Amino acid sequence: MKRLTRDKFCYAMSADNAPHLHVAPGETFSLETEDCYTGTIRSPQDRFPEEMREDRANPATGPVFVDGAAVGDVLCVEIEKIETRDHGIMFVESGTGALSELVEGSEARFLPIRDGELVISETLSVPIDPMIGVLGVAPAGEPILNTTPGEHGGNMDCKEIAAGSSVYLPVAVDGGLLAVGDLHAVMGDGEVCICGAEVSGEVFLRTRILRNCPLPTPCVETPEHLLLLGSAETLDECERMVLDKAHGFLTEQLLLSANEAARIMSLLGQLRVCQVVDPLKTMKFMLPKSALAALDTGSRLGEILGK
Ligand code: CA
Ligand code: ZN
Repeated sequence: MKRLTRDKFCYAMSADNAPHLHVAPGETFSLETEDCYTGTIRSPQDRFPEEMREDRANPATGPVFVDGAAVGDVLCVEIEKIETRDHGIMFVESGTGALSELVEGSEARFLPIRDGELVISETLSVPIDPMIGVLGVAPAGEPILNTTPGEHGGNMDCKEIAAGSSVYLPVAVDGGLLAVGDLHAVMGDGEVCICGAEVSGEVFLRTRILRNCPLPTPCVETPEHLLLLGSAETLDECERMVLDKAHGFLTEQLLLSANEAARIMSLLGQLRVCQVVDPLKTMKFMLPKSALAALDTGSRLGEILGK
């Protein structure tokens, strides 16, 4: 199996990044990933260096060139497995994140992972639920730093981007140039203090290339749901983006009337926050796949979605 080690990373998604690996669609490969601090926090005394925070955070392993992926295609990235190392790290500091006024000073905390559980305190451990914070492809234009989410994917911090899920992204340059990093052993919706349990590890992936794909991007497919994602400066704008994507998808691809689509969205859709702490915020609108299948009268959705 092809594998990239964690020293082969980039800090921005860019058409100019030279690929470190070529893979064929359908082939399983693995990417070892560094934590979001690039390993700079090695003890509770360490701090994430100020000078790295803007343009050297969230190293993403890659890029990976997917053979045959061409501009206009959609790249489906299937996540087979996520392995994490034996501890998560959280660095909190007053002045950053959505709790910036409430956090005191700065503190790095190591959270051991033992027997599949994240040890948060002496009395509290929770099962780990590993997810990928950064997963993206190169945009066509200016490079986009890995701190930022967008239509290319990137730092979406969506906790459903986990083993058993697939992420659909728009191919804007040949090969797509996929890069992945910023694993979290545990993270809550919102990621409000600015980090999850940041962890290095290894992800096992497989890709598919879709031509004329009816899905809006970026999109996440879990065993139960389809999630349409949108990132913008405010949550109001994010909400607008994901609702427009969902309504457009239901009317244009599943051919529902405008009002039927609205009713389905209001009855069965879940509007939720991915994160509120990155340079752009991210929301998700979740639709149950079983309902989409029941409503679908002839789109290509059935052959695209897995399982
Ligand atoms: Ca992140
Ligand atoms: Zn992170």
